[in-house]
Amino acid sequence: MINHLPAQKNLSNTRLPVINQTGQSWQRQLADSIDDIDELLDILQLSALKASLYLPKQFGLRVPRGFVNKMRIGDAHDPLLQQVLPRMQEQVTVTGYVTDPLAENSANPIQGLLHKYRSRILVTVTGACAIHCRYCFRQHFDYQSNIPSKQQMAEIHDYILAHPEVNEIILSGGDPLSVSNRRLIEQLKVFESLPQITTIRLHTRLPIVIPERLDEVLLAYLSHSRCKIVMVLHTNHANEVDTHTANYLSEAKQAGIILLNQAVLLKGINDTLQAQTELSHKLFSVGILPYYLHILDKVSGAAHFDIPKYQAVKLYWQMLEELPGYLVPKLVQELPDQPFKTPVDLYQSR
Ligand code: SF4
Repeated sequence: MINHLPAQKNLSNTRLPVINQTGQSWQRQLADSIDDIDELLDILQLSALKASLYLPKQFGLRVPRGFVNKMRIGDAHDPLLQQVLPRMQEQVTVTGYVTDPLAENSANPIQGLLHKYRSRILVTVTGACAIHCRYCFRQHFDYQSNIPSKQQMAEIHDYILAHPEVNEIILSGGDPLSVSNRRLIEQLKVFESLPQITTIRLHTRLPIVIPERLDEVLLAYLSHSRCKIVMVLHTNHANEVDTHTANYLSEAKQAGIILLNQAVLLKGINDTLQAQTELSHKLFSVGILPYYLHILDKVSGAAHFDIPKYQAVKLYWQMLEELPGYLVPKLVQELPDQPFKTPVDLYQSR
């Protein structure tokens, strides 16, 4: 599929199918995502679940059909289904869970730019995501007033020039890969034109939920970038990565992209030793290294996904015993006003 990449990038001989399993482009799959609860429950033969759900006015149900295909029919506890179902518990107010848990609304000097970490800036390319993860810490974030216009991209460019300590750009969102190649490449060019920028990082869940997003045009562009390209994927459970997904990830790897993964520790989804070891091994088998395991950010509506910190630490000790060091992600927590992700203290919290 990727036939414009330079030889030194060690191209794979394997060819991805021109059309995917459903025969649809990624754009079509994105547009055709399921947003109707009845349809989802019908496909999964779980109509009885309806009574425990609600219809959110904002941040409603959204899940690509390919991701639904990875769910088990008739299993109300399926770990992928749990991540997208809007449950009644979301409406319960729980003390300590707030709309802006990381106080990000106060860390953006220019629309679309977050500067929390000294040498890295984060640019919110878009508010759109292919999937709505019910635990998302940005589900209440005011994206509409945080997507940079052309003028603001120019301001961001100047801001970076005025901050020579910045050497890495993190493209986030929403999901930065939910925008068109044309728009994404336009933005990448702005950052690549700045000699101080050595690395561009893409935080994305799209290649996991719609693998076809790793298309020929995108990979060809990224493979030629002057900057090191790091793709931090977001995968919470081993079942999210099937052979089809693995084929596309392999193409990204062959294009010279560094693949890492971040996961969120989620009650009833991946809070067991078995789930975590399976995830790490699955990621490694497709060329992705586990990077972060996040303690849930205390965002309102997501308290039912949280587990006590001492339980997270107990699980982590088990992971340290069970897995080789390179397959153990860092257990971290994002705290407001901290200029880095805070490693969880394994001794204090034990
Ligand atoms: S893909 Fe990421 S940003 Fe989008 S809803 Fe899920 S966790 Fe949030």
